[in-house]
Amino acid sequence: MLDYNHKRSFSEEVCALIDQALDAERAGQTPRSYLGASRLGAPCERALQYEYARAPADEGRSFSGRTLRVFEVGHVFEELVIRWLRLAGFELHDRKAGGGQFGFSVAGGRLQGHVDGVITAGPEALGLKYPMLFECKTMADKHWRACARSGVAATRPIYAAQVATYQAYMESAVEGISRNPALFVAVNKDNQELLLELLPFDAALAQRMSDRAIKVITATEADELLPRGYVDATHFECRMCSWQDRCWGRGQ
Ligand code: SF4
Repeated sequence: MLDYNHKRSFSEEVCALIDQALDAERAGQTPRSYLGASRLGAPCERALQYEYARAPADEGRSFSGRTLRVFEVGHVFEELVIRWLRLAGFELHDRKAGGGQFGFSVAGGRLQGHVDGVITAGPEALGLKYPMLFECKTMADKHWRACARSGVAATRPIYAAQVATYQAYMESAVEGISRNPALFVAVNKDNQELLLELLPFDAALAQRMSDRAIKVITATEADELLPRGYVDATHFECRMCSWQDRCWGRGQ
């Protein structure tokens, strides 16, 4: 008879080793010194400040090994989606001709973004216009279904903000990318269903995000703390926040 208790403890033991190794690998990487443009649509500006300032997360709230595994699985899914789209006839470039990821760096390098890809051609029958920004995300079934039902802008505004910002800032490097809708692909992590949505450029949203970036960078560099995004520390976003104690003056 199988000893499930023993099996579980063996599994936990190996997972702990994997997670420790991932943590150590991450600790050895140079932390980013810029504000990531993919985060500009995050709900709280003060949290963006902590992120930009590289404020240490509250005790026990730094990325766990499991979170790092989630990130890596997302990258693998992204590679698969690129392969699938290419098989379907899209010319999708995830690297510049000379190598390296597509991206942008503005405000003296303080604001940067890295782009999943640029599509320059595709099946004629679809009647799409190019160049087109490509952005890929993975989602758990519940979030994927909501996104499929109501769209990216309504259900994942942080992603819509990211796409608009990228379209705006990539225009100087890839002319026309902000004239054409971006291709947003979401993979359902539970069953690999795909959701593809065209996102027309939202110039007003891009401008709001750009203004927000300047506000966050300027305030942080002036040592000014922006107002909290919420009035109650028990708000869902605060409970999920890596700097909840720091923000609300607890245990600091
Ligand atoms: S704890 Fe809440 S208000 Fe404070 S930074 Fe985090 S999300 Fe913003």
